[in-house]
Amino acid sequence: MLDNHFRLTVIQKIALGRLGLITTEDLLRYFPNRYETPAHECLIRDLCVGKTVLVTGEVIAVKIGRSFKTKLPIGEVTLTDTTGQIRAVWFQQVYLAKKVPVGGLASLRGKVTERRGECYLTNPEIELLERLPDHGGALFTAKEEDAQLPLLPIYPETKGLSSNWFYYAVKKLLRLELAQKLKLIDPLPTDILTHYRLPSLETAMVWIHAPRREADAAVARKRFAFEEIFLIQLDRARRRVSYQSQSAHRINISRDTLELFTKRLPFPLTRAQARAIEAILKDMANEKPMARLLEGDVGSGKTVVAAGAAYATVMAGNEVAYMVPTEILARQHFESFIASFADLGINIGLLTGTDCRKFPSKIHPNTHTEISRSQLLKWVANGEIPILIGTQTLIQKTVHWKKLGLVIIDEQHRFGVMQRKRLVGQGKRATHAAVPHLLSMTATPIPRTLALTLYGDLDLTLLDELPPGRWPVITQIVTEEKRNTAYEKIRRELKTGRQVYIICPRIDSPDLTRAAAIIAKSAKMEYERLARDIFPNFHLGLLHGKLKPDDKEKVMADFVNGKIDILVATSVVEVGVNVPNATVIVIEGAERFGLAQLHQLRGRVARSTLTAYCYLFTTDGQPSNLTRLSYLESAVNGFALAEHDLKLRGAGALAGTKQWGISDIGMEAIKNLKMVEAARTEAQRLVATDPELTRYPLLLTRLATLATRDIHFE
Ligand code: ADP
Ligand code: MG
Repeated sequence: MLDNHFRLTVIQKIALGRLGLITTEDLLRYFPNRYETPAHECLIRDLCVGKTVLVTGEVIAVKIGRSFKTKLPIGEVTLTDTTGQIRAVWFQQVYLAKKVPVGGLASLRGKVTERRGECYLTNPEIELLERLPDHGGALFTAKEEDAQLPLLPIYPETKGLSSNWFYYAVKKLLRLELAQKLKLIDPLPTDILTHYRLPSLETAMVWIHAPRREADAAVARKRFAFEEIFLIQLDRARRRVSYQSQSAHRINISRDTLELFTKRLPFPLTRAQARAIEAILKDMANEKPMARLLEGDVGSGKTVVAAGAAYATVMAGNEVAYMVPTEILARQHFESFIASFADLGINIGLLTGTDCRKFPSKIHPNTHTEISRSQLLKWVANGEIPILIGTQTLIQKTVHWKKLGLVIIDEQHRFGVMQRKRLVGQGKRATHAAVPHLLSMTATPIPRTLALTLYGDLDLTLLDELPPGRWPVITQIVTEEKRNTAYEKIRRELKTGRQVYIICPRIDSPDLTRAAAIIAKSAKMEYERLARDIFPNFHLGLLHGKLKPDDKEKVMADFVNGKIDILVATSVVEVGVNVPNATVIVIEGAERFGLAQLHQLRGRVARSTLTAYCYLFTTDGQPSNLTRLSYLESAVNGFALAEHDLKLRGAGALAGTKQWGISDIGMEAIKNLKMVEAARTEAQRLVATDPELTRYPLLLTRLATLATRDIHFE
């Protein structure tokens, strides 16, 4: 526990709690995010004018006075290490000096200046330190005079804990640990370390916190990045083995039966779709539960693959749970399933937080009807509604199944592993309990390295072919002065009967507290402006997340059936929405979106053989922004874009980084395909030989530690 080693103020305790730093190991694994060279940790006798330095020593005098000339307050502290004395002077923040007790230990970081032949530190940063019995001058300073001084690590700061605090706290711990060889026992097997030439935990700890050279820090970071990715892979590999050791309902239908479904479709399947359905059926005919990820670019036609799998499941006498991230999407899939299965006598239910429906209606058998939640759940429980489509509501405990055979998760990157696990868990609580087959689908392309890591427990099927006759969306960057020309083109398109999306970065009027936000268009204001000034002769609709569900549905339905020509919306339409007659999408404030997200939005209009347009409106004329956006003009493939975004803007640009639970250092590894593949190979090899990790108790402990912190290890 950290309290045992440090005297902590209440604020510091709270801050540590916030960062999840509880044990000494947690603190040691709180890594700097960069290093500074200029602030040499110096002995006072070596100070030279003009350098930014860090000195540590005992406070021997504190003085608060006033400037002789200006009469402004001045604070002054004199510090000594064993080699000399230095004075620090504050002209601003004079109260800093008041914090310092004579006899206390402090470190000062600042620039050395000279006045009347004497060295000063002017307005330095000051940190009060705890007195360590053997503290004298710089720690880690080499004995040899010419040895390089360590780089200064810069830690992510938080209220109450400065980078400097971490620096000293970690040093203190490291010295204790190193001296006593306490807990720094390496969880990574030695053969892996040797094979990939990674430093041991002990070495890496020193190199990451107090490197002498950037290269050492880099090697240490590489080791920790590898360790993190390896642990995630290990977790996934174990999960895969345990998932597949359970048994599932066999789903076996004849080719003829499947043809009943495919023949009814208004189009022939693409080869990729046929292959995917085949792979899925083959998996599901097995007693082992399927765990498959269907990855396909926007518009590649994943829904029909899901429908095929659902159809087979129902025909084999099992039920299907189909979970999607938004209500709009749930409703859309509900209706498209009804269309695919019309006349096949398959009942379908819809369950969202606000809406419960059933197809067919008793009174009007060609349509669906609203029913009570309890009635819907009753019918699901006794197997009368074999397909239930819904949002997260599906994972609630009140949902019971008779014989759940297949779980489909659409846009699965929008869900956490926990939600997936809960949905799958429902199969085990069903009347005929078994682990359901799992089909996950994703359109937001994520880099291959990330997919390999996060979805290491799934088999991968790629839909690498778009339906025939699709043209790349014609994409153009539109700067402010070309706005009206673009509107003119849009009017022409509208006149031929096509429909248009206009996407705004925010719902409400701008938040004036943030300068950048002033220029970000809000959907509400833009809706009014466009209806009044730009497109007075067309019907406009407004769609955003804060609308009531009924209103959302009404707007969406009106757009689908053509009553609305122009849908002004926020990025709520980003995933899954399918209106093939819409051929233009305008994205306001395009600079605020990541490339992958823009591509996903653009995918809304790539759903038919009609020529489609995407206008990226931007007010940011910076070359860097224009270059980034221009990548979209030429690139058509979502996966390439995701890789590009990763390189360009870093891992933070990828949607959902936080929920993946990968640290910044882990994300460094995500940029490195070789490392990710190595971690995967090693993890699989280990689990194949020792699935319980009996020979690797330290790895087990590490996995368990992570499990308590991170949703992905649940
Ligand atoms: P996504 O993969 O983005 O979920 P969808 O399943 O929504 O894509 O399909 C996009 C559009 O393509 C839909 O209008 C769908 O009816 C159509 N579609 C799917 N498969 C084919 C196909 N084989 N031939 C022609 N159109 C297809
Ligand atoms: Mg979809």
